[in-house]
Amino acid sequence: MKKDLRSMSLSQLEEEILGLGEPKFKAKQIYSWLHQHQVSSVDEMTNISKALREKLKDNYEFCSCSIEKKLVSVYDDTVKYLFELNDGEYIESVVMKYKYGYTICVSSQVGCKMGCKFCASTIAGFVRNLTAGEILAQVYTAQKDLSIRISHVVLMGVGEPMDNFDNVMDFISLITDEKGQNMSMRNISLSTCGVVDGIYRLMEKKLQLTLSISLHAPNDEIRSRTMPVNNKWGVDELLKACRDYTKATNRRISFEYAMISGVNDSDECARELAKKLRGMLAHVNLIPVNEVKETGYKKSNDERIRRFVSVMESYGINTTVRRTLGSDINASCGQLRRKKKEE
Ligand code: SAH
Repeated sequence: MKKDLRSMSLSQLEEEILGLGEPKFKAKQIYSWLHQHQVSSVDEMTNISKALREKLKDNYEFCSCSIEKKLVSVYDDTVKYLFELNDGEYIESVVMKYKYGYTICVSSQVGCKMGCKFCASTIAGFVRNLTAGEILAQVYTAQKDLSIRISHVVLMGVGEPMDNFDNVMDFISLITDEKGQNMSMRNISLSTCGVVDGIYRLMEKKLQLTLSISLHAPNDEIRSRTMPVNNKWGVDELLKACRDYTKATNRRISFEYAMISGVNDSDECARELAKKLRGMLAHVNLIPVNEVKETGYKKSNDERIRRFVSVMESYGINTTVRRTLGSDINASCGQLRRKKKEE
């Protein structure tokens, strides 16, 4: 497979351009077309000679996302995209508007191997990793389509970022590059279902991004029932990695906790969770589980969620309930791709 132009750092691109027998400064121009102007084809690079454009097209891939479907929520302007990739696979991204700006939720893989029981992303199976350029293309394409500047990225779409570690790291360094999108590292969140070796690899990089952990249960008994990854790294091992992570980076960790009626939402669960998180630099985000028809799970009711929050707060744990956006457009990930596959 040919190398993807959009996935390369400037120095990689310079090497390639020299390899084509072209002067090195051309790489800067091309990089600027790719990441500042964010063009969607080589032919839009108008100060690059026709001959070099042809060489680029012959020798490299240009990963793109074409809009297969776009849904706009009538409630809150949330936009959901189903993108088609060059090889005909589909991925999803969601753009949300907050007071502080626009956030995009991007996918990191086509499908997912992790097998969480409540999650739609996993139902249609795993196909492949996305390249850094394909993750970037989601941001660039949405931004251009909506004529906005996207200031925040959450790696919370389809896929497990830690299972595509190197491409995700390349994506992060490209999107934060001041010669490109120049996004602030602090505006990036990376979410993992609890791949502990990935947490340690990320820790080494000491990035100022936000690490989110999809915890969803206070103990191994419940967590292993809903999240197969827990059989490899149990709750205690995961929380130890989180403590080590905050010690090394000084960054507060965000714990995601989907409230599933009768599964993980009792006062007892809240007490157990609170005790385990006590003393950590942490924040808990409760999310009424999104009901996916195949899973059979039901969301906890408002009263149950309020009780859960008040138990957590009684232990001094910072806890919020996530606002639901785009509920009319199936904005939670995995659902559109799955429907497309069924068609
Ligand atoms: N694989 C990574 C990135 C995906 S992020 C991870 O697991 O963190 C997607 C988030 O949505 C995760 O927190 C995931 O656990 C959560 N999620 C998946 N299915 C859900 C559902 N039906 N309702 C609420 N949250 C869900």
